[in-house]
Amino acid sequence: RVVTLRPSQPHDTYIINTREVLGGGRFGTVHSCTEKTSGLKLAAKITTARNVKEKVSDMSLNEIQVMNQLSHTNIIQLYDAYEVRNQVVLILEFVEGGELFERILDESFPLTELDAMIFVKQICEGMQYMHQMYVLHLDLKPENILCVNRNGHQVKIIDFGLARRYKPREKLRISFGTPEFLAPEIVNFDFVSFPTDMWALGVITYMLLSGLSPFMGDDDSQTLNNVLSVNWYFDEEAFEHVSPQAKDFVSNLLIRERSGRLSAAQCLKHPWLHSIQDRAKHSNVLLKSQVQLRKYMAKRMWKKNYIAIAAANRLKKISSSGSLTTLAI
Ligand code: ATP
Repeated sequence: RVVTLRPSQPHDTYIINTREVLGGGRFGTVHSCTEKTSGLKLAAKITTARNVKEKVSDMSLNEIQVMNQLSHTNIIQLYDAYEVRNQVVLILEFVEGGELFERILDESFPLTELDAMIFVKQICEGMQYMHQMYVLHLDLKPENILCVNRNGHQVKIIDFGLARRYKPREKLRISFGTPEFLAPEIVNFDFVSFPTDMWALGVITYMLLSGLSPFMGDDDSQTLNNVLSVNWYFDEEAFEHVSPQAKDFVSNLLIRERSGRLSAAQCLKHPWLHSIQDRAKHSNVLLKSQVQLRKYMAKRMWKKNYIAIAAANRLKKISSSGSLTTLAI
């Protein structure tokens, strides 16, 4: 169904549990919520304007329009949307497994390369569909991949706040995001397109396999420099047990030239993802990524750090002139 922004309160239809916070981000907080008539558990993403000038519905309208076009098992579904004064409430499909990387930190869930393959394949399937629908996500990162439940393997892509419809003749320049996951063309303020999302998939896959962040420097400027000079390598120790096909997969995504990167459809045909059945038959050694990720999380102070960066960059400027759109958040 097509969701439109209703100018009313969600409380007649949903019970929003404001005490249960599922997560928070740049723009608001996500709470658990229940549909009154069916008892269905959902998630309510509440975005609040931070000042009188900010029009929260403008920001959310884009997210609603994009999500309305998408219906896929690896993409979170939008159910409903409400606008009340300075707040927009998006009612979303709920998943209870938490963020993929948090799950990986869980010692009771030992991670093998096969697990990584199963996760990456689903992310690719969601991306292939999204790209077929001409949608660019532009904010793919570990926090935006959620697990459906605590012990299963199914994942879903979330957060279409920065996503947009790709228009072939539109020159879209974008500047935002978390330094570690930015493609060189975003840092360079150059045109973005489908391969921009594929770069992010390369970073996510690298991290799943090794627990290391391929471009992370001591500070943001070093990280950005590493991205710009495409300065990355396979850490020998962390990748010790990783297969050559997995490395080839990553090497075909973390490429400066956009046209050189694999598309989502090509990723699904790549020998690495194609050998899932085969690999499942053999015993799999554990990856070292869990140990590394624990160190990484401590170093990065994860969300705290990126929310601070996002807040500092929050001055939002949208200017449209002719076919050129610039969005800086
Ligand atoms: P960002 O700063 O990453 O852009 P945001 O404000 O746009 O964040 P989301 O990324 O959509 O918000 O959600 C923030 C967090 O809330 C997620 O990382 C996740 O932990 C949790 N979350 C979001 N949607 C759901 C959902 N449908 N079910 C369960 N948890 C969710």
